[in-house]
Amino acid sequence: MQTSIATVSIAGELNDKLNAIASSGFDGIEIFEQDFVAQSGPPSEIGQMVRDHGLRIDLFQPVRDFEGLPEPLRSKAFDRIERRFDIMEELGTHLLLVSSSAHPDSLGGIDRIAADFAELGERAAARHMRVGFEARAWGRFVSDYRDAWEVVRRADHPAIGIILDSFHTLAKRVDPSGIRAIPADRIFHVQLSDALRIEMDLEYMSRHFRCLPGEGDLPLLDFMSAVSATGYDGPYSLELLNGQSRGGIARTAAQDGRRSLLYLADQVRRIEPSSPITAQTMPAKSRLRGVEFVEFTANDREAAALGHMLAALGFAPTARHIAKSLTLWRQGNINIVVNTEQEGFAHSAYVMHGTSVCDIGLLVENASATAERAKKLGANLFAQRLGARELAIPAVRGVGGSVLHFLDQETELADVWEREFVPLGTEDAIRPVGLNRVDHVAQVMSQEEMVSWTLFYTSIFNVEKSPEFDVVDPGGIVHSRALQCDDGSVRFTLNGVNTDRSFAGRFMADSYGSSVQHIAFAVHNIFETAGRLADNGFESLPISENYYADIAARFDLAPETVESLKSHNILYDEDGNGGAYFQIYSKPYGDGFFFEIVQRQNGYSGYGAQNAAYRTAALKRLARPVGVPHRNGTGAGKSTA
Ligand code: MG
Ligand code: MG
Repeated sequence: MQTSIATVSIAGELNDKLNAIASSGFDGIEIFEQDFVAQSGPPSEIGQMVRDHGLRIDLFQPVRDFEGLPEPLRSKAFDRIERRFDIMEELGTHLLLVSSSAHPDSLGGIDRIAADFAELGERAAARHMRVGFEARAWGRFVSDYRDAWEVVRRADHPAIGIILDSFHTLAKRVDPSGIRAIPADRIFHVQLSDALRIEMDLEYMSRHFRCLPGEGDLPLLDFMSAVSATGYDGPYSLELLNGQSRGGIARTAAQDGRRSLLYLADQVRRIEPSSPITAQTMPAKSRLRGVEFVEFTANDREAAALGHMLAALGFAPTARHIAKSLTLWRQGNINIVVNTEQEGFAHSAYVMHGTSVCDIGLLVENASATAERAKKLGANLFAQRLGARELAIPAVRGVGGSVLHFLDQETELADVWEREFVPLGTEDAIRPVGLNRVDHVAQVMSQEEMVSWTLFYTSIFNVEKSPEFDVVDPGGIVHSRALQCDDGSVRFTLNGVNTDRSFAGRFMADSYGSSVQHIAFAVHNIFETAGRLADNGFESLPISENYYADIAARFDLAPETVESLKSHNILYDEDGNGGAYFQIYSKPYGDGFFFEIVQRQNGYSGYGAQNAAYRTAALKRLARPVGVPHRNGTGAGKSTA
């Protein structure tokens, strides 16, 4: 598959854009007139610059309001296009995009329009150019690819073809299946972008809200399957127009773009095996089975403080690593590794972020296939020097530079704990409180990164994304979204912040971009757990009286139930379908990390979004006051537990 991207999709100076596009593996670009309005050199220099990056110019755009005009406007429109051909000759590109006219003087009439294109075909051919006609959703007489195709068919000229754009088709709810009837050699170029299904003027939406395939709600897969069924094997090009891609980091935007195309191609190949899309084959989406371990990095002193908290949660250190300063803490099916190494990745993570989660081990169906799929989708593989008897566990870089390791039960990786750890004979020291497994891992990132990491998780794993919702923090809104597999065995919540005044934002600023802010453990009986936690000396996050008055009013709960929730600082939620959710939080630790304990009843699949504002307010009351410096000897890792 040839991949291409319109330069407007990426932020920055042309040279930065080209660097980002080329290094992400694209084959070509669509160049916009505005790209060299801002550039000082002549088009020939720009063309050379593009080729020096190893890229092709697949298309030049835009020309609008060309067809169906009366004289003298008609002649002027042809003259304008001749000037574009001059530029294209200099640039070294041969395909021009003409999008359907919205000109108020345009006369319409399919044969008139076809005649204009037939004449344009003659002029283009004389200059070794080709012209592709694109139906814009708000075109005056041509606003649908089916009409554009009829124009191209009637123009009947080898230099005139159709350009298909997913946005113009799908945002208007036009059925893309008719594309299957268009001959492949008449399709000159294909543009892809997604959008949310919201009621909005299409022209406005097109200019500001065209997003990555998969980021919106449009049936891109139907569109691309229809195109590929024709046998088309030309470029698939991203044409993204939105504040985010143009304002973000060029390299990230380009990498995300390419990943979204490869992911889409992989899905098409799976439903249309005869498709000519020759995207590299990759293993199927990885099936997640659970969180196998969570690894913290700490220094010795802070590891002791973290240990106090883990002990209060009922964990005990049960094994030591055969060669490294790693301690395994266990309870139920939960493995927590505390790493106090003085070198290697974990130590670097400690230097950068302080005591924090540096590594998450995911149990998957097939660890090596997972890493291969991640790599094919552009993820960065992670490896470090192995000691004797250590297993090579496949891994990639995740959010905030952290690491994700992949384990499975079918290979020797299943024996990692027995092979790499020596039991301490301290199983009796576990004072279990009923923590059974990791329910979810909450990661914080800047708001722009939400798109990237959503795509990362959804393209590699069998997780679905929930709609985004806003957590109102008095210091700023936190955009939150859950990613979870259908059986709930692994759940991530992504929290996007754009200010460091929110609690999540401060955590990110204070920990210099550490990603995991909280880990939630699942229990079967939260009241029983709460009692045992109290016996262990665990200090839960105090929740205000107001909260319990609020839930007593919102839900049909017996007064003694409310009293019982209140006495244990348990938060409560219902989903309206009989599902209920119970939550206990720990006090914040260090830069604002905390633990959560949850019980899900009757298929509740949310995260207590209604409670987030109360929880945030409670955490903020206990956190380091604003303006107090941290990590100056008493800062990093200072336990408040
Ligand atoms: Mg377009
Ligand atoms: Mg949570």
